[in-house]
Amino acid sequence: MPEDAPASEDVGTVYLVGSGPGDPGLLTVRAREVIDDADVVLHDKLPGPEILDSIPAGKCEDVGKRAGGEWTPQEYTNRRLVELAEQGKTVVRLKGGDPFVFGRGGEEAEHLAANEVPFEVVPGVTSAIGGVGVAGIPVTHRDHASSVSFVTGHEDPTKDESAVDWEALAATGGTLVVLMGVGKLPEYSQALLDAGMAPETPLALVERATWPDMRVATGTLGTAEATRDDAGIEPPAVTVIGEVAASHDRLRAFLANERVSTVDADDGDVDTGDAEGAE
Ligand code: SAH
Repeated sequence: MPEDAPASEDVGTVYLVGSGPGDPGLLTVRAREVIDDADVVLHDKLPGPEILDSIPAGKCEDVGKRAGGEWTPQEYTNRRLVELAEQGKTVVRLKGGDPFVFGRGGEEAEHLAANEVPFEVVPGVTSAIGGVGVAGIPVTHRDHASSVSFVTGHEDPTKDESAVDWEALAATGGTLVVLMGVGKLPEYSQALLDAGMAPETPLALVERATWPDMRVATGTLGTAEATRDDAGIEPPAVTVIGEVAASHDRLRAFLANERVSTVDADDGDVDTGDAEGAE
């Protein structure tokens, strides 16, 4: 046993688990196993209704948005994870997508280590890659994008300076995938235009990827706000900016992922997007 291993054998293990974007079929085998074996599952709403409904309510603790609309403070979640582990419980911290992609999983891992609680990381399919992939959008493409950047569209409001360098991102020429970016879409699309990105650059908004009511809206950087508003896109949604975003419209007629439906910009109608629905 390594010298720096946790001292007490009575301390339970915490599993930092990614649920994938929401379709239970995209939960990993390991995730299902540790969820089934857990005494307690701490979750927020992002894993989506189907996955959350598949876990016995008795072992679920919601550490997401509270009824009043306020978020459970991260300090509470950190404290609760340690507290439960110290009671000898097997704990799953279930997060949407991948736990280490904008999920505060890194902070929780450090807190657990600082408190000598053993933990295992169970990766998940991130909405930033798999969630847009099911919409027929490859984040890289030999002809269109040699790099991809994952960006937060919702900066920490307590920070004085912008933590995201939109000018530098515009200069990459690669795909930009923006998470938590529905509300501030007008601001960052303007920042990219100001940085010299072409208004014709394709843009796609993928809402509730892989959930039963998933929708996709497409437009351009220049029409970003109208694309969002005409379709009524709401969080959770991923914004894809770059040439690859146009592939949704090219491929959708033959995309057999059942849940993908497209909001057409011209009439707001939802197209089922399956091959049979195509003219
Ligand atoms: N760890 C998550 C991301 C958490 S940040 C992951 O890897 O996917 C929260 C943001 O993730 C949301 O604002 C949204 O941009 C994105 N997101 C998560 N699940 C999503 C889904 N099913 N469909 C679309 N966007 C999703």
